Amino acid sequence: MKYISTRGQAPELSFEEAMLSGLARDGGLYLPQSIPQLSHDEIAALAGQSYEVVAFRIMRPYVGEAFTDDEFRGIIARAYEGFGHAARAPLKQLDSGHFLLELFHGPTLAFKDFAMQLIGQLFEFSLKRSGNRVCIVGATSGDTGSAAIEAFRGLDAVDVFILYPHGRVSEVQRRQMSTPSEDNVHALALTGHFDDCQARVKDMFNDFAFRDTVGLAGVNSINWARVLAQVVYYFTSAVSLGAPHRKVSFTVPTGNFGDIFAGYIAKRMGLPIDRLVVATNQNDILHRCLSGEGYMPDGVIPSISPSMDIQVSSNFERALFEAYDRDGAAVAQLMDELKAGGFNVSQGALQALRENYDSGNCSEDETRATIGRVTQQSAELLCPHGAIGVKVADEQRNADVPMITLATAHPAKFPAAVEEASGIHPPLPDRMSDLYERSERITRVDNDLGEIETLIKERTGN
Ligand SMILES: *Cc1c(COP(=O)(O)O)cnc(C)c1O
Repeated sequence: MKYISTRGQAPELSFEEAMLSGLARDGGLYLPQSIPQLSHDEIAALAGQSYEVVAFRIMRPYVGEAFTDDEFRGIIARAYEGFGHAARAPLKQLDSGHFLLELFHGPTLAFKDFAMQLIGQLFEFSLKRSGNRVCIVGATSGDTGSAAIEAFRGLDAVDVFILYPHGRVSEVQRRQMSTPSEDNVHALALTGHFDDCQARVKDMFNDFAFRDTVGLAGVNSINWARVLAQVVYYFTSAVSLGAPHRKVSFTVPTGNFGDIFAGYIAKRMGLPIDRLVVATNQNDILHRCLSGEGYMPDGVIPSISPSMDIQVSSNFERALFEAYDRDGAAVAQLMDELKAGGFNVSQGALQALRENYDSGNCSEDETRATIGRVTQQSAELLCPHGAIGVKVADEQRNADVPMITLATAHPAKFPAAVEEASGIHPPLPDRMSDLYERSERITRVDNDLGEIETLIKERTGN
């Protein structure tokens, strides 16, 4: 299996190479050259299997020669053994025909653990084999960073630097990044927004001298291996509701478009998905774009669902690449226009996007009201991100097709917002109940590429 860049100008890579490099050298994102198909019978045979068995069958065709079957099975087993639920991604019923996919039983209580724990094991295996060392740099609106630090802390061949927007992540998110005491972990609080953090990470990847000196590797959702890991739970959940014998729909709280794009891949692999619904908070650029208003970032307004406070949605580039029939030059042109302020999607591409994605948005008041309503009606305490999904799903679902809404984080990750909306204080699971007592380690940085690069070089001895 070869991987190609969405901008058409970077060398084709193997799975392992694409995973270790993250962003392509032409600024694009890697995608498999073709999407493997599962037959009706192969999908039916996933019913009743463990999460790990399904993960192996779904991901195996993508990794090619990089690992033997046994090595890959071992990697998957180690990735998910630290989860607090035997089913890994259990499904709960909210209402007739509406289900909640709980993706928050990993070590940092958000769905990012599904991909990051796997990537940690994949990196560890590859780097041990090659004897190389990498420097992982990532941007986070809160959950990616904590998941990355948890996945890579203490690994020998890896340093991890995470940029997060100072003062704009929840206390639990910050503490999950700042309390690990291992020397290879560095939490950097940047003066700015998440989009600034993401832009500086992209700048570092485009500074080839720096990139090669420190051995930069990326684990943001631009990394194909992360998208791939997220394809698995679309299969486990759909099959447990009767797929492939009947269709299911999904609603996905969306920011960087990684999780919903994984749903698109599942559909392309043969899973009978009726509708994929993008749910946004008040930063609804994706909803506006899918509604035909063009892609025009106009500034982030902080919300109670901070992991979705994004205006430059990096994985949307992959969806555009597909909608433009894999025309890398057309995508490169759009991304140039984006740097200059925004772009319009062609009629043909917009139609292609709408064939695959529906969308809706959710205000702050609606988010709080949904948390309160669902607590009353279904005794389920939602985090604000999951609540956005439930609100949009309820508007869009129909009686014939079961709707699965992705619950992307545990309510205890956002205790203030949840308590205000529901009157219930969500306790942390026992295994992390001392989080508020552990001591913190944070470095403040300005939104300045030179300053950040110097710090990373110093800390990695380059
Ligand atoms: C990252 C995140 C999202 C958004 O996911 P994308 O893949 O970036 O669209 C939604 N909810 C939570 C809790 C998250 O951490």
